[in-house]
Parts: sequence; C-alpha cells; structure tokens
Amino acid sequence: MADHIVILGAGTGGTLTANRLAKRLPHAAIDVVDQDDRHVYQPGLLFVPFGLADPDDLVRPRGEQLRPGIGYHQSGIDRVDLEANVVHLTDGTTLGYDLLVVATGARLVPEETEGLLGPGWMEDVFTFYDLEGATALRSRLAAFTAGRLVVNVIDLPIKCPVAPLEWCFLADWFLQEQGVRDDVQITYVTPLDGAFTKPTASATLGGMLEERGIDLITEFNTGEVDGAGGRLVSYDEREVPFDLAVVVPVHSGAEYVGRSPGLGDALDFVAADPHTLQSAVAPNVFAIGDAANLPASKAGSVTHFEGEVLVENIVRFLAGEPLDASFDGHANCFIETGFHKAMLIDFNYDTEPVGGHFPGPVGAPLLKESRLNHLGKLMFQWFYWHVLLPGRDIPGLGSDMPTAGKQHPPT
Ligand SMILES: Cc1cc2nc3c(=O)[nH]c(=O)nc-3n(C[C@H](O)[C@H](O)[C@H](O)COP(=O)(O)OP(=O)(O)OC[C@H]3O[C@@H](n4cnc5c(N)ncnc54)[C@H](O)[C@@H]3O)c2cc1C
Repeated sequence: MADHIVILGAGTGGTLTANRLAKRLPHAAIDVVDQDDRHVYQPGLLFVPFGLADPDDLVRPRGEQLRPGIGYHQSGIDRVDLEANVVHLTDGTTLGYDLLVVATGARLVPEETEGLLGPGWMEDVFTFYDLEGATALRSRLAAFTAGRLVVNVIDLPIKCPVAPLEWCFLADWFLQEQGVRDDVQITYVTPLDGAFTKPTASATLGGMLEERGIDLITEFNTGEVDGAGGRLVSYDEREVPFDLAVVVPVHSGAEYVGRSPGLGDALDFVAADPHTLQSAVAPNVFAIGDAANLPASKAGSVTHFEGEVLVENIVRFLAGEPLDASFDGHANCFIETGFHKAMLIDFNYDTEPVGGHFPGPVGAPLLKESRLNHLGKLMFQWFYWHVLLPGRDIPGLGSDMPTAGKQHPPT
C-alpha cells in the first residue's frame, strides 16, 4: 500500500513540503490540513501600514498552491493521537498516517499580556503581525502627525525577529515623507539587551536606530499594556508612555499541540532534532518552520532551507535509511531600512551575521544598506509564490549557508 503522509498546516512550510514530496514520492498519498483558505504572504504585512502593499495582493487560496494529486482538507485540528498514528480534525473526521509533518507555525496570543486587548486595542494599540492589524494600522498611521510612537516586542520567540526593527526604519522614512518626523518621537522597546540578538548585527542595527533618532529601550519585559492610560508597564515597574503603540504580541505554538499528549513543549512548540528535523516524540513525526522548537530563527527563509533537508529525510525514513543530519540553521533575511534601501543578513547555528557578499564574493552586500537588497526584498514576493512554495530548486543555492563571500573575522 502507498505510504500515507499527513501534513498539518498549509502555510509556508506545509505547502513547500507537500509540493516537494509530491515530486519525490509520486506514489505516496499526501494530505494537507489547514483551518482556512487564506494563504497570507506574511513578509508583505510589514508594508501594509505604510500604504506600500495592498492587503488583497498578499492573499491567495491555499489549495491552489498545492500540486495536483495532493489532498487538501479545510478544518481545524483537534488533536494528534501519537499512539494510534491518527489526527482528529475538528470537523469530526480522522486521518491515519504513516508519517506526520507538523507545520502549523506560530500563533499570536495577545490575550497573554494584561490589558493588551483592553481599551485602546485597534485604536491606539495595534499589531502589524496579522492582516487585520496591519490594515487597521494603515489609517491610524496616516492620521498620526505628532506624539510618541512606541514599537514594542513583548517577548521572544517571535516570527521574523528583524521585522519590528524594519517597521521602525520604515516609520522614520514614512514620517519624513509626510513632513511630520520632527513632531514624532519614535522609541523601540525590546526585552533584549540590544537592538538584536546577534552581537555584530545588534551593534550595526543599534547604530542605525541612533543615526535615525529612534530611541532604544532594552531589557524591558512588558507586563501590562495600558491602552487607556497610554503606557507600557514592565514587570520591574518601569513605564514607557505612548500615544500610538505598535506591539508584537507573545507567540506560542498551535493549541492542538497542547491537547496532544507528548507532542509539544510548554509553549506548544514541537521539540525536534536541529539537524534532521525529526521530532523528539516519535520517529515518524517531523516538524518544520515556526512550529518547531529549534535554536534557529522563526523565518520563511529558514523554513525554506529546512524543507530541502526535511523532504530528503522523509524519503529516507520511509525507505528505512539513516537520516541526513545536514540542516545547519541557515537563515537569510532582507532588512528593509527605508529610503528604498535594505540590508541583508545570512547566518546559521554557528556563524553570526557578518559583512561581505551573498551568495559568493560577488553578490548582494551583507550587513550593509543597498538598493540591490531593497529590490531583492521586493522581488521576494514573486519568488515566494512561484519558486519557494512550488518547491523548485534554485540553481547554485542549496540549503547550506554559503561561506565563500563572508568576511572573517566579523567587521
Ligand atoms: C510581519 C511579518 C513579517 C515577516 N517577514 C519575513 C521576512 O521578511 N522573511 C522571512 O523569511 N520570514 C518572514 N516572516 C516569517 C514567515 O512568514 C514565517 O516564518 C513563515 O511563514 C513560517 O512558515 P510556517 O509554515 O512555519 O508557518 P505559517 O506559514 O504561519 O503556516 C502555519 C499554518 O498552520 C495553520 N494552522 C495553525 N494552527 C492550525 C490548526 N489548529 N488547525 C489547522 N490549521 C492550523 C495556519 O492557518 C497556517 O496556515 C514574517 C512574518 C511576519 C508576521
């Protein structure tokens, strides 16, 4: 009988895994489950509040991104029975599997922060991390001509850890374009001890905030968002006043993970081997993308690179062969910096972002603003729908982080 592969989640990771598998294992039965039919190009959410992207252009039907022959089930997931190898869907149906891929991403849980969903939510307190929030913020920002604009990452991990910094840089650009920058104070508030996690990139990005007159408040663990009073309050009782707050809410894994004994950790993410992506809970369960608890960034690029190794390992697992332990934590992120420029960072588990060029000695500049990187960021949307999701290979660019163009030691 054909192997039955069930993939939970039809976002970035679930879609590209299904499409790659359909090519590698044409006789396998592949079923994909998602709760809705709106595949959002999430990197585009960054641009929506500034009127640089139209919300409707970011959304496509999920089933249409899957190759013919892949089964698509639109339903919530109730739980996974790991003993019986069965997934229970909220529509009452069940799917048995030989191999399961967890690709249900990360979930925003604003309700975890006191006051965040209270008075002021979607009036003076917004997030751009979902389509509804990014769209609502657009009109509020257009009318914001003076006052204190605060951008706050409440806790880590979050998807695309550079996105809130990009939002600050774009806000600086946007407010200058509107002619009101001198009347707006922008403050970036983070639980980290610097602008970013990795030392060299943190120093570069911190310097860029300073150059742009954006204040940086570090080691701020937000305990309460007081929308009515216009204050962020930290657990150690510091306060940051705001007229408009743009927050990145706490993230967790999908709720069904918590209802599936053994599958997830305390935050409902799935522990997996950082190099093979096989889950810690059962050999026939793998995890990809934001749903996985790995020491890698939660980013579409990481998910893409993971996909190549994951599919190889699914093929090997089903053939009874040893797994390929080659995933190196590769992440590659364009950082939009405003004024039609962007930076690029490329790193993995062992190498922090450094200067140089990508993917080789001649290429896009690393850790440096350029127009070429900005064009790369804009082109990525086309690349996402037409290359990444269909599971096409990029000639000369595999999942391993390239080292040829990188400067050592870091500059
Ligand atoms: C504002 C923003 C900007 C970003 N910018 C970038 C960027 O520039 N570069 C980059 O590389 N990455 C970026 N990312 C991150 C990137 O979008 C994610 O890391 C990537 O989409 C992760 O893919 P995934 O498959 O793990 O999760 P997702 O693509 O989120 O897919 C998860 C899927 O699981 C489904 N699901 C969840 N729970 C259930 C359930 N209970 N039942 C059924 N279905 C369920 C969801 O509906 C969803 O379709 C950005 C993200 C945001 C929010």
